Amino acid sequence: MSDHHGFDTEAVHAGSEPDQRFGAVSVPIYQSSPFAFDSVDQGAGRFAGTEHGYIYTRMGNPTAAALEEAVASLEHGHAAIATSSGMAAISNVFFTFLEANSHVVGTDSVYGPSRVVVEKYFSRFGVASTFVDTSDPDNIRRAIRPETVMLYVETPENPTIRLTDIAACATIAGEHGLLLVVDNTFATPLLQRPLELGADIVVHSMTKFLNGHADVVAGIIVTSTEEQRVRLRTALNHHGGCIDPHQAWLVHRGLRTLGLRVRKAQENAIAIAEFLRQHPAVEWVRYPGTPDYAQRELAERQMEGPGAILCFGVKRGLEGGRKVMEAVGLATLAVSLGGVETLIEHPASMTHAGMAIEDRESAGITDNLVRLAVGCENTEDLLEDLSQALETLI
Ligand SMILES: *Cc1c(COP(=O)(O)O)cnc(C)c1O
Repeated sequence: MSDHHGFDTEAVHAGSEPDQRFGAVSVPIYQSSPFAFDSVDQGAGRFAGTEHGYIYTRMGNPTAAALEEAVASLEHGHAAIATSSGMAAISNVFFTFLEANSHVVGTDSVYGPSRVVVEKYFSRFGVASTFVDTSDPDNIRRAIRPETVMLYVETPENPTIRLTDIAACATIAGEHGLLLVVDNTFATPLLQRPLELGADIVVHSMTKFLNGHADVVAGIIVTSTEEQRVRLRTALNHHGGCIDPHQAWLVHRGLRTLGLRVRKAQENAIAIAEFLRQHPAVEWVRYPGTPDYAQRELAERQMEGPGAILCFGVKRGLEGGRKVMEAVGLATLAVSLGGVETLIEHPASMTHAGMAIEDRESAGITDNLVRLAVGCENTEDLLEDLSQALETLI
C-alpha cells in the first residue's frame, strides 16, 4: 500500500511523534486516570465526541493511543483498541457483535479460552456455536445456519501448525453476511495481514510476538471500519478491560523491534526444521517452511514467511517427548511463545495432558508431538542444544 512505509519504518515511527510539551522522543507514560478539562464546554464537547481529547483512562489514554496507532498501521487497519489481555480483546469482540440466538462458527483448535468463552458463557445468553476444522472451507459452509453472524478463525493453529485460508473464509463470510474475525497472534502482521485478505477484524494477544519479551500480558483489536471501532470502543468503555498506560508503553517499546525479532526467530526456525528433518530420532516435522509441508501452496499465498513456531514428532512416543523435555538446556520448558527466548513444550504431558488420548489424537496432538516456539538466540547454540537432547533417544 502506497500510504505505508516499510514494515520496520512503520514499527519504529507509527504513533511515535515527539511529545509536544518537552520533545520527548519516547512516548511519555501518561499514568493518569482522569484528564482535566479547560472549561465546562470542553468537557461537554469531549463527552459528546465533538472535541478530541481524553476524559478517563478506561475510555482512552494517550500512551495507549500511540500503541493503537502503531498496531493499526502495521495491520493496515482503520483503527485499533488495546486491551488488558488477549482474552479481553477476544471477549470484547464477542460481547460487541453477538446477540441472543445468534450463532458463531469457529476453528476447532483455537486458543482454548476463546472457545470456552463462547461455549460456556455466551451460551448462557442463547448464543450457539459450532467449532470445525476450518482448514477445509467445506466444513465452514456445512456449519453455517440462518442465524450465523460470525466466523472466528485462528491461523496458523497451535500446536498442530495447520492453516486456514483467510481469503476463502472472506468469500464465505461475504456470501452469508458474516463478520470474519481472525486471531493473528501467531503470524504477526509482518507475515500475515488478514484485513488485506478480506477479514473484518483482527485480534492479537500482544503478550506474544507484539510485545515479544515475555514480560507483559496485553491484547488488541484492529478494525477495518469506523463503525466497528465505535461499537467496540463503547462496549469496552462500559465493561472494562482497558490497557494500563505503563503496560501499553512496554508493549509499544517491544513492538518497535517486531520485524527484527520475527525475522531472526524465523531464520532460526528454518535452520532448526531442516536439522530436525535429517535427525534419526525425529519421525516428522511440521513447519510451513519445509518442502513437504502439506499446505505449502496456501502458506506461500497467504503468509510472507513460515514463522517461528514448529512442531515435530520424536521417536519413542510419550516417553521420547518427556526425555527431550528433560534433556534440553537452552530451550526453556514453558507455555506461551513469541518472546526472544526459545520455549519448548510437550502438549501430551503438559498443556493437553488433561484431554482424553482419543480426543488428543483426533485433534492431531499425538503423544510424540513436541512444540518449539523459536527465539532469537544464535542458531548454532539452539542446534547444539537440540542435538544433545535428541541424542538421548538414540
Ligand atoms: C495467548 C493467546 C491468546 C490469549 O491471550 P492472553 O494475552 O494470554 O489473554 C489468544 N489467542 C492466541 C492465539 C494466543 O496464543
